[in-house]
Amino acid sequence: MITRIDHATAVTCRHDNVVVLEDTSITFADGVITAIGPTTGAAPVSPAREPMPRLEDLVGRPLGAILIRMGRLTSEQLVRALDKQKQTHCVIGQTLLEMHLVYEADIEWALAAQSGRIPPEAAADTLVIDGTSYLAIPGLVNTHHHLFQSLTRCFPAVQSAPLFAWLAALYERWRAVDYAGLRQAATASLAELALAGCTITSDHHYLFPRGSDVRLEAILEAAEAVGLRIHAGRGSMSLGHRAGGLPPDDCCEDEDAILADCRRVIEHYHDPRPHAMRRIELAPCSPFNITPELFDATRALAAERNVLLHTHAAETLDEEQFCLDRFGQRPIEYLHGHGWLGGNVYLAHCVHLNDAEIDLLARTATAVAHCPSSNMRLASGIAPIRRLLDAGVKVGLGVDGSSSNDGGNLLAEARLALLLQRVGGNPAGLTATEAFRMATAGGADVLHRPELGRLEPGAAADLVLFDRRDPAFAGSLAQDPVAALMMAQPPRPVHVFVAGRPVVHYGRLARLDWSRLAADFDQMVRQRFSPCPGA
Ligand SMILES: [Zn+2]
Repeated sequence: MITRIDHATAVTCRHDNVVVLEDTSITFADGVITAIGPTTGAAPVSPAREPMPRLEDLVGRPLGAILIRMGRLTSEQLVRALDKQKQTHCVIGQTLLEMHLVYEADIEWALAAQSGRIPPEAAADTLVIDGTSYLAIPGLVNTHHHLFQSLTRCFPAVQSAPLFAWLAALYERWRAVDYAGLRQAATASLAELALAGCTITSDHHYLFPRGSDVRLEAILEAAEAVGLRIHAGRGSMSLGHRAGGLPPDDCCEDEDAILADCRRVIEHYHDPRPHAMRRIELAPCSPFNITPELFDATRALAAERNVLLHTHAAETLDEEQFCLDRFGQRPIEYLHGHGWLGGNVYLAHCVHLNDAEIDLLARTATAVAHCPSSNMRLASGIAPIRRLLDAGVKVGLGVDGSSSNDGGNLLAEARLALLLQRVGGNPAGLTATEAFRMATAGGADVLHRPELGRLEPGAAADLVLFDRRDPAFAGSLAQDPVAALMMAQPPRPVHVFVAGRPVVHYGRLARLDWSRLAADFDQMVRQRFSPCPGA
């Protein structure tokens, strides 16, 4: 099926610039953007695709079945609609429209086919969305997260704690995580990201408590259910409290078991192809909970399997002091000594850097995931993003885990990144254009995904549509659409597509009904992860 959005305003990165394209048509098919240009002059497209079902196979069949055969509806969506229909007593077509699961043109086509009339050709092959009221941007790219941390969001005892005290208290709760709880938490965090316009996230999962059934699959399943692309980082912790590390010993794993599981998940789930929905990365947690030997072994394994490396670095002064005390080196120096700087590495935070370290990151092509909310929340400091960009370092944005951000909204993160670079006295510390680039193409480059974060032929059909009439845009779009997205309050997307498939449809999740799962999740958090679990 071809989808075409006509008459939209589009904002996207082109090389190092950000461009605004008025009255634009964006066409995509088979998960890939095939054309973008002025609406009146859009090039015709005829990509290879599955043929529509034959009319004689559809005549007399139920409307829902026809829509499923057309690829417009999933079985799960139909079950939800039939449930709702029982309460409303509407006809199913009306129910599907009210639930915003399909477009009117789909219903008209399916009804024509059902009654044996020949449906209009255009409706069969091409879904045309009137984009007159839409602002389109590429899907937002999140380069650092810990999806499981929605289990301890706003945890009272650490609302005003710095990183080490925050971690020490939360480890005590996190050790209760299991497979089902992890999947629920990841689903919640991913749903939040999707509803705010994110289409791909990195996840750094380092928590595998001893004796638990936690596996990375819980996160991969959640990403598939919500419909987002994911770079799942197989994280680890091996330096426990008894050996001088920060985490409790029962939150750490045996190093041979870590490496064996890293090999297993790469073997089973890593997809190196362009447009992949999931990739695996190797992501030991931090210098203060990983041994030097594990850093070395993980680096060697990543080189052997050609996967990315990710870790936290230079986040706080406590971490700096830990590295000086234990290794006699600052964090970046320590990582460099273990071969952990390079084009296949991206580091979260990088708040405390001197000039030589910034040069070193640039020379080694090491990339950075900037997490302004988390850095402010934990009073970690202000990352020198201006200097990193000027030195030529690749920088993306990360929301960081839900326990140190308490939210997962990338447009809000971009706005904070822009504002935070100005706090020190430079009113042009980060421009709207630079913030937009970091949230889209810049983040995609950090993740080695040149096919993402851009609206151009050949790029993935990951795109976000906002309603230009959203009050958050009032007055600002007429001035400067890029600044309207980066400097005004973040609007909510109306539609989000990943690989051309709707993930958010009229402001609601298209593939999953989170409202059904929310009560269970809240109950689990209350019983197992709150200050007085079980109370
Ligand atoms: Zn983090």
